[in-house]
Amino acid sequence: MSADDTRVYMDYTASSPVDPRVVEAMMPFFTRKYGNPASFHSFGAEVREPMEEARNKIGQLIGAEDPKREIIFTSGATESSNIAIKGTAYRSRGKNHIITTAVEHMSVINITKALMKEGFEVTVIPVDEYAMVDPGAISDAITEKTFLVSVMYANGEVGSIQPIKEIGKITRENKIFLHTDGVAAIGKIPINVIDENIDLLSFSSNDLYGPKGTGALYVRKGVSIQGVLQGGGQERGIRSGTEDIPSIVGFGKAAELIQEEMTQENKHIERIRDKIISGILDNIPESYLNGHPTKRLPNNVHVRFSYIEGESLILDLDEKGIACSSGSACAAKTLEPSHVLRACGLPHELIHGSILFTMGRWTKEEDADRVIEALPPIVKRLRTLSPLTPKELKEA
Ligand code: PMP
Repeated sequence: MSADDTRVYMDYTASSPVDPRVVEAMMPFFTRKYGNPASFHSFGAEVREPMEEARNKIGQLIGAEDPKREIIFTSGATESSNIAIKGTAYRSRGKNHIITTAVEHMSVINITKALMKEGFEVTVIPVDEYAMVDPGAISDAITEKTFLVSVMYANGEVGSIQPIKEIGKITRENKIFLHTDGVAAIGKIPINVIDENIDLLSFSSNDLYGPKGTGALYVRKGVSIQGVLQGGGQERGIRSGTEDIPSIVGFGKAAELIQEEMTQENKHIERIRDKIISGILDNIPESYLNGHPTKRLPNNVHVRFSYIEGESLILDLDEKGIACSSGSACAAKTLEPSHVLRACGLPHELIHGSILFTMGRWTKEEDADRVIEALPPIVKRLRTLSPLTPKELKEA
């Protein structure tokens, strides 16, 4: 974002800059308005109101009916999903079955694995080649023991948007809670928890250009949930611990800005996305788009190239001042091939030849031009080096 930085940043899903307007809104709450919202005196009142205002703005962004009761502040989506899934599991009164999908974020996958060790049963629904979940498969998996369905709203890796509204209809008819990880979708596409019958929604502030390490869990009124952290009883006893007021205020400001600017902003980002997709697919032989071609996040370009390693591609692009990713930054440390691409049925060599560009508020049209110009010679060079590349392609 800084004026003297000539690099192109296309890894917004891993981390996004905080909007300067958000930073400005946060500033007074570090040194001047530093009270604890639980205090009775005026210092407490001074931060209580801005905290509730933030809660309101965040609730409005997702169409919550009663933000004051339904938005719980957390440290981010990982914590939100822990509370949502474990919190309903521990109150499930004899029911012990969870339905989820093969393409969830590791936070959700690892929570369900932990619950399996405690005796809960988990059904993992497979996806099609585009990482899409079939609502019919969810319906078929429901038993009288099912208390929760957890399906992410959109996949942050391949960009596919799941049919949450249809799934919400099924869960509501069967009196089962629906949890969705909204991290990748929030601020990119409209979400309405009432229309879509969502009972629990996890999201993080940084995906809205707010501060990192803060997030929220939407808990629909009437959903019985047990807190995961025991302590002073803040956040209606669901999430104990003194609230991080500067971050919460910043999160609220970020939500307000995205609500005002989302439609316009995403038109611009979508144009850039489409330019990069066609610039790659039209100019590089044997390049393919991962994820759904149309039911897709406006900021996601996930492509694969045969006969090369995504990591080499990323390093070569980085040398040209372009930052992109091999998939989920959260799982990058494990060096495991992406479970999302595996679930789509891609063989290992094509998973390794995949790279992800994610754009955001400050991405410019010229950034797309830089990518489209830089990529073909890099792919060609790497293919020349690869013993797997057929002769015709090396000479193409
Ligand atoms: N879900 C998805 C889809 C994510 O990409 C991430 C990481 N950005 C998370 C959940 C976890 O979010 P956090 O790291 O803010 O807890």
